[in-house]
Amino acid sequence: MITLPANPIFGHAYEKVCADCIARWHRLLGEDVFFLTGTDEHGSKIQRKAAEAGKQPQKYVDEMVVFFKRLCEKLNISFDRFIRTTDADHIKVSQQIFKKIFDKGEIYLGTYSGWYCPECETFYTEKDLKDGCCPTHGKKAEWLSEESYFFKMGAYTQKVLDYLEKNPESVLPAGKRKEIINRVKEGLNDLSVSRVNVKWGIPVPINEKHTLYVWMDALLNYISGIGYPEKEFKKFWPADVHLIGVDISWHHSAIWYSILLAAGIPLPKTVFVHGFINTESGEKMSKSKGTVIDPIELTEKFGADPVRYFLLREIPFGQDGNFSEAALKERLNNELANGLGNLVNRTIVMIEKYCGGKIPEGKVDAALEKKLDLGKIKNHMQGLEIHHALSEIFSFVAACNQFINDKEPWSLFEKKAREKSAVEELGNVLYSLVDSIRIIAILLQPFIPATAEKINAQLGVKAGSLKECEFNLLKAGTKTTKGGILFKKVE
Ligand SMILES: [Zn+2]
Repeated sequence: MITLPANPIFGHAYEKVCADCIARWHRLLGEDVFFLTGTDEHGSKIQRKAAEAGKQPQKYVDEMVVFFKRLCEKLNISFDRFIRTTDADHIKVSQQIFKKIFDKGEIYLGTYSGWYCPECETFYTEKDLKDGCCPTHGKKAEWLSEESYFFKMGAYTQKVLDYLEKNPESVLPAGKRKEIINRVKEGLNDLSVSRVNVKWGIPVPINEKHTLYVWMDALLNYISGIGYPEKEFKKFWPADVHLIGVDISWHHSAIWYSILLAAGIPLPKTVFVHGFINTESGEKMSKSKGTVIDPIELTEKFGADPVRYFLLREIPFGQDGNFSEAALKERLNNELANGLGNLVNRTIVMIEKYCGGKIPEGKVDAALEKKLDLGKIKNHMQGLEIHHALSEIFSFVAACNQFINDKEPWSLFEKKAREKSAVEELGNVLYSLVDSIRIIAILLQPFIPATAEKINAQLGVKAGSLKECEFNLLKAGTKTTKGGILFKKVE
């Protein structure tokens, strides 16, 4: 879930690519997956930005959402639903949950006075502020005093703490969970959950003078997006993973857990906190310094798969990482073009030349087979170590290229006329390669899906599932098709 800024930023592209990779991986495992993404469109920040742009808030968010949908399209994001918090079903569920918690006596009317950051729409205590500014955004905090409904979040401190402590996978990576635990231990405060001065929000169902506090609305997308309390909600909740940025980890743990506990809804299994992407020198991307990278332009320049590959491979999942075009080009040229592209191209060309474009009879080389550690790849993905999984797949790509160099199929082809054994060996070598490439294409579907499709087309096979990552399944006699090169090198 993303609070709408003026334009999609690089971090959004990163988050979507990671979420997409995880969703596609689980589909590959044969699981039923619901991948929800979308935009959080209410609150004072949007109200203010719309006013600055001289637009009605609805018009403003409608225009912004176009960018985000385009970003998803450009990056080949396979979401099942793109939810907007202005969607009618979301508004209905938000009001239902508020009413449910209110009816239980867990929400009361009071007055709120406190320091408020308009950027993250969060209240802070005096000691949270740094020189009077938001600890996250550095923006000057405003003193706000108004009538407000309060959620008795303080009463949930122990329950939230118990959940975090008993479930090591509740918040990942582990360090982030520890930070949250320490903060919860200090005790949760009751949470102001309505605003009278913000018009751009969901009306509080019991008092139309108020709108819902933006987090009381936004977090509920995770259940409204799957049809709470019916439909897919019954099948998919509790969610396996919420993928979020570190700046909103508190909201997605302490606040979200308390709301769910109050509403009698089970808690999500894992909140995974991904890192930020910085500039080449490790600084925050900044508009004024001109170091902001437009993710849409980047995909137009390099294509979706090289960008996806770079983000998934370069940045250890769960940590911050740096971006530079030079590093992207290096991975594109070395690993994608020279590594994967060359393997596929060489193999298809040899099959054409030596076997008339038909996959020969053969058996996969036992030593080569051992170079693929499928168990390791699966474990990495299960542990959300995406970068390690991808690196493991590419070490098999490298092993296949080495196999070509060692076996020299071109020499076997020359020997073919003289030695009968060479005919059989050439068949085995080429079959080993082409069957390995088939498996590589299956494994790469979650990471670089368009490339996987192109490889399948060249091999004349359909997209496989993880079950088919077994050697010697490829049918001899299948016609291969020489496609264009998979990756163009970039200077
Ligand atoms: Zn802030």
